[in-house]
Amino acid sequence: MSTAYYSHTECRLHDMGAGHPECPQRLDAITDQLLASGLAIALDQRDAPLASLEQVERAHTVNYVTQLREFMEQVQSTGEARHLDPDTVVCPGTWRAALRSAGAAVAATEAVVRGEVENAFCAVRPPGHHAMRNKAMGFCFVNNVAVAAKYAVERHRLKRVAIVDFDVHHGNGTEDIVAGDDRILMVSFYQHPFYPDGGSQSHASNLVNLPVPAYTKGMDIRELIEMMWMPRLESFKPELILISAGFDAHREDDMGQLGLVEQDYAWITMRLKDIARRFAKGRIVSCLEGGYNLSALARSVEAHLRALADV
Ligand SMILES: [Zn+2]
Repeated sequence: MSTAYYSHTECRLHDMGAGHPECPQRLDAITDQLLASGLAIALDQRDAPLASLEQVERAHTVNYVTQLREFMEQVQSTGEARHLDPDTVVCPGTWRAALRSAGAAVAATEAVVRGEVENAFCAVRPPGHHAMRNKAMGFCFVNNVAVAAKYAVERHRLKRVAIVDFDVHHGNGTEDIVAGDDRILMVSFYQHPFYPDGGSQSHASNLVNLPVPAYTKGMDIRELIEMMWMPRLESFKPELILISAGFDAHREDDMGQLGLVEQDYAWITMRLKDIARRFAKGRIVSCLEGGYNLSALARSVEAHLRALADV
């Protein structure tokens, strides 16, 4: 069984301006690493389709999607970038990049649920896990993983989908969308206190949140995962695992202050593969979230993909 790799050149056309860390070069760094390491040829490379508005509206309110689309169309017609929040900028290429990102997550979910491939990675941007039901924030517009989760439970009638978020930031948008939906279990760790303010806002029983202080190292994270994630994942028995794969908890990434390294991402991936193989026919769809040190990002994605693809 193979590993699919979804991306699209239009994901590069979203550009929030010189010096912005969430930049098109992130995808170039990943592509270069996969080519130089020889891993690219082991992957089933596919173009991401555009998500439909109907797919996006499973995770977001119709009102939000309408306002976002109108805002994006205004920017396209004037050609002038505009801020949605202090660090989230819409440029003329943003709308199609956002729809490609969500479309990758949906297409990857379709491919693994149909059994075409065992698992998939979506090398996409903009990221999604801060995008709330009715609000864009933190570099995110459409919540790619939440769109995929809703697609899996509503379109394919899966009864149990797990979302695993290992980005250094709390996936507040995903939490906002899935809290209280017992078809979905969300497990995460994140630096706290940190962006976004307040960390988790929900005590819903389908959330396993592990806030950790700055400077926590990979071995301590592994221990917490073993104690706190694994028992919940084992009792939930997910039919599909979605990963919000942010690599900004890497010790070389200045965006956060956690101490993970490539081997930690490989270890987490192997643990999730074990759960997926026992309960979910191996099905994993992983979507890129953060990761801003280009070298650390590229090496971490390679380690994650080697574990996914068994190479
Ligand atoms: Zn992040």
